[in-house]
Amino acid sequence: MKTAVCPGSFDPVTLGHIDIIKRAAAIFDHVIVVVMNNAAKRAMFTQEERVDFLRQATAGITNVEVDCYDGLLAEYARQRGANVIVKGLRALSDFEYEFQMALTNRKLNPNAETVFLTTSAQYMYLSSSLVKQIAQLGGDIRDLVPSCIVDDILRKARQIKS
Ligand code: ADP
Repeated sequence: MKTAVCPGSFDPVTLGHIDIIKRAAAIFDHVIVVVMNNAAKRAMFTQEERVDFLRQATAGITNVEVDCYDGLLAEYARQRGANVIVKGLRALSDFEYEFQMALTNRKLNPNAETVFLTTSAQYMYLSSSLVKQIAQLGGDIRDLVPSCIVDDILRKARQIKS
């Protein structure tokens, strides 16, 4: 069985992430979406909220599991017996960072191969940061995130503002 991990901060999950997750689920037998904490980014949503959003948004995809982890991705992949790490690539701006991460992860776990999926053109501009900015300014996020989490995101954005 081919198991792949699909890591990210997912703060919050966007339709761009869901597109990558669905495409990975069509290639691999089992896909574990793992919510990690990026020390360089201050999260708007707790790890539990991010996991819950992902579980709701991927409920219809039978071979997708959602988990969270606070350590090294290379170690998580080893523990879960996954030898593929799936990442999405939006633009050249993602490339340098992702290239460095892929080489680092291979050094830490030579059994895990990083595979890049190119973004679908309609999500090329989409990021979690963009969603957070629009939500905090009261804009429409319905075309950007799964419909089941729109209200939760807007509620949190209002809480932060008040
Ligand atoms: P972000 O970079 O938006 O904070 P994450 O750290 O949660 O997102 O990203 C997890 C993975 O999803 C990364 O590999 C990232 O490149 C990818 N990704 C994020 N947004 C998109 C998108 N719109 N299209 C394709 N891949 C994406």
